[in-house]
Amino acid sequence: MSSDEKKGAKHKAAMEKQKKSVDASIAAADTERGVGILLTGNGKGKTSSAFGMVLRALGYGHKVGVVQFIKGQQLSGEEIYVRDRCPEVAFYQMGTGFTWDTQDRSADIAAARSTWEQAKAMLADPGLDLVVLDELTYMLSFDYLDEQEILDAIQNRPEEQSVVVTGRGGGKGLRDIMDTVSEVKEIKHAYNAGIKARRGVDY
Ligand code: ATP
Ligand code: MG
Repeated sequence: MSSDEKKGAKHKAAMEKQKKSVDASIAAADTERGVGILLTGNGKGKTSSAFGMVLRALGYGHKVGVVQFIKGQQLSGEEIYVRDRCPEVAFYQMGTGFTWDTQDRSADIAAARSTWEQAKAMLADPGLDLVVLDELTYMLSFDYLDEQEILDAIQNRPEEQSVVVTGRGGGKGLRDIMDTVSEVKEIKHAYNAGIKARRGVDY
């Protein structure tokens, strides 16, 4: 057997083994229900991943709700697109009551609460297949919202509904109740090399 043939046989054996293990886990995964997903970590890619899932769901004609807990000065492209071209998506952004620099804690809390009311209604709506709660984690880290109330609403949502929460941190409670938790790890970010945030890429 040539060395190429040997490599080929080794690869085939490894692939067969992997296929067996994948088939076994597919057979074992027999629960059908909505999934709770937390996208966290310091790297870039959480919100854009969540909006990728919005697109994925819309492809199947699923009903989607999006609530954004921090609205930047500059609207992101995906926000503009969903707002203007996806009227079928229930879309709510925290109003101007909240900004990073007002340092008006009570106004921020009021804005967070009224935004949460929208999210809570979506989490109770069996007509929605997917609910995205973008940057919700900060409402917990700033102690603007009651953690237990959020955990309860997520856990008691309709069985077929999936929910995606994005944002750095998030705490143990949230991690514990979610089914899938992914951490986007920063290896490097263009910004730190002096490259300006780019339209259509960063926002
Ligand atoms: P994206 O919206 O691009 O998916 P994200 O949701 O993971 O990013 P956020 O913390 O919400 O990240 O910040 C959004 C903005 O901040 C984006 O413009 C993104 O490029 C930028 N950003 C994200 N992570 C970093 C980082 N580690 N250093 C510098 N800028 C970052
Ligand atoms: Mg984000």
